[in-house]
Amino acid sequence: MARLVLKFGGTSVATIDRIRNVALHVKREVDAGHQVAVVVSAMSGKTNELVAWCREASPLHDAREYDAVVASGEQVTAGLLAITLQSMGLDARSWLGWQIPILTDGAHGAARITGVDGTALIEAFEKQGQVAVIAGFQGIHKATGRIATLGRGGSDTSAVAVAAAIKADRCDIYTDVDGVYTTDPRVVPNASRLDRVSFEEMLEMASLGAKVLQVRSVELAMTHNVRTFVRSSFDDPAAPRPGTLICDEEDILEQQVVTGIAFSRDEAQITLRRVADHPGIAASIFGPLADANINVDMIIQVVSDDTTTTDITFTVPSSSYERARQILEDLRETIQFSTLQGATDVVKISAIGIGMRSHAGVAARAFRALADKGINIRAITTSEIKFSVLIDAEYTELAVRTLHSLYGLDKKPAAEAKAAS
Ligand code: ADP
Ligand code: ASP
Ligand code: MG
Repeated sequence: MARLVLKFGGTSVATIDRIRNVALHVKREVDAGHQVAVVVSAMSGKTNELVAWCREASPLHDAREYDAVVASGEQVTAGLLAITLQSMGLDARSWLGWQIPILTDGAHGAARITGVDGTALIEAFEKQGQVAVIAGFQGIHKATGRIATLGRGGSDTSAVAVAAAIKADRCDIYTDVDGVYTTDPRVVPNASRLDRVSFEEMLEMASLGAKVLQVRSVELAMTHNVRTFVRSSFDDPAAPRPGTLICDEEDILEQQVVTGIAFSRDEAQITLRRVADHPGIAASIFGPLADANINVDMIIQVVSDDTTTTDITFTVPSSSYERARQILEDLRETIQFSTLQGATDVVKISAIGIGMRSHAGVAARAFRALADKGINIRAITTSEIKFSVLIDAEYTELAVRTLHSLYGLDKKPAAEAKAAS
């Protein structure tokens, strides 16, 4: 007997029919003798609708009330799945975040889990053989007793945190794809499924735009060593496939130089022209942005065409763009720049791979390949296991496909794959 956490995303619980299908996956594991906790997302589209309602009610709303509203989507699916499981003859009950409890900090809208008490869940398994159906995405801020949500995609994090708390043998993240791919299969149909991907690479892929797992869930899986799989809820519940295992680097036999390509449209570029070139100027720009909790990513400083001043270019999340502009305009006198230019039609494309540690010239090949396609690079950053380029958004698909092929990630034709194995 094992203890399992199964998480089902929005598409997997989008209708009552699909919830029935989810229940069959749960039943299969219960029938095999396992103790099962299920974490569910809201029905697909529901959270977007709830977020839009908050904005419509008031663009500048109280984040605590936003959380009260958006957490409701998961309450519905938790109850519906419990009802469905009961109708199949299983003992099941729903759990909201505060009932477990899943404790969070007070950062409403993007709260972090500070602790999960697994005692009540384990008691329900052991005394009653009951299935726990847990509303994902939500917890309770202990100091105030208010409901808090974990940021978009947060049910992944709920699942891994619960798995760590109840010492689950496995955490299965069921979604609408059958695993983690070399890039988003919706953009590159030729993407290949990975049998295994290391925690570090998955962390980078998620941070750089691959929304298949929330970044925080990968961090938690890594620190608590939770055995986590990404797999498809659309598989036949009677014959499921294992999906992709997120694991330690040592457990990957054949390491590629580049494992995956990620992209993020959530970027904006700001260029300050003719900034005075003296010590302390970078601090006077980036200090106030940091104080305003704005994450600056790529930074480039070049000598301006008048040769006495410099131009500084950097990127911020597109959601912070207007705020960043405002802060800098207000500081124009102190920073002494001539003009502020901004662009939001940009995308950051990244290549990720642990193999980059031991191979030189990996990024240089990409720069050449993009140039050959006539794609201009606006900014570059590199680190140990990834590099990113900022380009015009209109070239997103072309650039992702170009890099995907360049690093040999395209799916092998069936015959070739067979011969290779
Ligand atoms: P869920 O609602 O189940 O949480 P998400 O939409 O959050 O599902 O995540 C699954 C989606 O992530 C897939 O449909 C796919 O388009 C996208 N995705 C992006 N990058 C990748 C990748 N590298 N591998 C697999 N899926 C990816
Ligand atoms: N329903 C939430 C969202 O759409 C949480 C999740 O699906 O993981 O972001
Ligand atoms: Mg998700």
